[in-house]
Amino acid sequence: MIIGIDDTDSKTAGMCTTYLGALVVERISALVQSTVPYLLRLNPNVRFKTRGNAAVAFDVVLDKREMEKVKQICCNLIEEFAVFSDRNTHPGIVFLTKEQAFGIRSRLEDFSLRAVRDFITIAEAKNFLGECHIAHVGYKNGRGLIGALAAAGFVFNGLPDYTYELIAYRKPGNWEKKRFLVDKSVWAADSMSYPHTWDTVDCNNCRIVCSPHGPDPVLFGIRGDDVNVIEHASNIIQSEPIENRLMYITNQGTDMHITDSSVAEARDGRSYRIKGMVEAPPQTISGGHVIFTIKDSTGRIDCAAFEPTKNFRGLIKQLAVGDIVTVYGSIKNKTVNIEKIDIGQLQPRVTMRNPVCSACGKRMKSAGMGQGYRCKKCKTTSSIPERLEAASQLVSGLYETPPVARRHLAKPLIRYTDEMVVHPSR
Ligand code: ATP
Repeated sequence: MIIGIDDTDSKTAGMCTTYLGALVVERISALVQSTVPYLLRLNPNVRFKTRGNAAVAFDVVLDKREMEKVKQICCNLIEEFAVFSDRNTHPGIVFLTKEQAFGIRSRLEDFSLRAVRDFITIAEAKNFLGECHIAHVGYKNGRGLIGALAAAGFVFNGLPDYTYELIAYRKPGNWEKKRFLVDKSVWAADSMSYPHTWDTVDCNNCRIVCSPHGPDPVLFGIRGDDVNVIEHASNIIQSEPIENRLMYITNQGTDMHITDSSVAEARDGRSYRIKGMVEAPPQTISGGHVIFTIKDSTGRIDCAAFEPTKNFRGLIKQLAVGDIVTVYGSIKNKTVNIEKIDIGQLQPRVTMRNPVCSACGKRMKSAGMGQGYRCKKCKTTSSIPERLEAASQLVSGLYETPPVARRHLAKPLIRYTDEMVVHPSR
């Protein structure tokens, strides 16, 4: 059986669906032969999300006679731990048997992928569950059924690409307190495990990024591609006491949310890879955000490196009109929020200088606004400045925002093994 769960937490009151997942694994362990936990990130642009739009699912091998007991344990946990008092929390749980899933494989696959790349209504999720007789419980308005069914679908169909995250949870008595981690031990854990782990720290911005700051139960999460290295790294971290930990298989760091698009086809709330030519040069606007415009044969669109992307903005500022780029990111208010950029063909950079006097060879002076140039000594004039062309200092290839600004689903460049030229942020 596959169990999918979503929408149990709250921005203010703490909790986290992944923590509920860890409790599920703990409490059903005596009744099942095995449980493989999955953490799925869905469309990062969904406005109802609490933080990272996560849902969890479990591939559970069990004796059919234990099914009802296991279902009851899961529902009891939701009823005990979900933050029902938050008007934005609408838990959902689905129980999908493998026999059921075989007959609806492609419908499930389509639903799961659309949950990552597009928007789904509560009615659509409920219809699907009803038509296919999939056991489920939707609390309050049942919105959590969307993520719960999408997550279960991914577990049945398998993830085309995946990574791991080991999450360590705090003891409930400490949730309200400031987290205690020995900084040095986190940096040490990172340096012994990178690049098989990533986004533990941000070297350029001198920040520990594997530990959140809110009232939720997560102490830290170590992401990576090798379970042994992740385990080892997490054991190096010295911290406050840990309540429990769970290694999830996840679609984080896979770019599953990204599809190719032209400018005209790109819609708000979805994430794309769009190729175009820089039409308007980068400008820094109030708040420190850097914006430029690209165009393709179908239209033009603004692209933004927002302030939280920190040093990445320095790269973006060097783009010039005519450069060919491919931007990766979500569209919000008709603007691409850049997660990665592939810098292709670069235009020569042109600078203008005052022309040289044809008589004495010295550089002329400006004769005033719009009045050309003049040599004071020889009285010669010119209206044409000297044009200098030089190759761009930029190097073509794929660049990424730093770990402090990375989206859960964004694929870190150190994961690229194909022919692309990549410039990891570290
Ligand atoms: P939690 O830890 O509780 O899962 P979160 O940040 O992951 O927190 P949720 O509280 O789950 O966010 O809120 C997201 C809500 O949006 C859920 O009810 C989920 O079912 C729903 N949802 C997820 N993906 C989509 C989608 N593509 N279209 C519409 N609704 C979605």
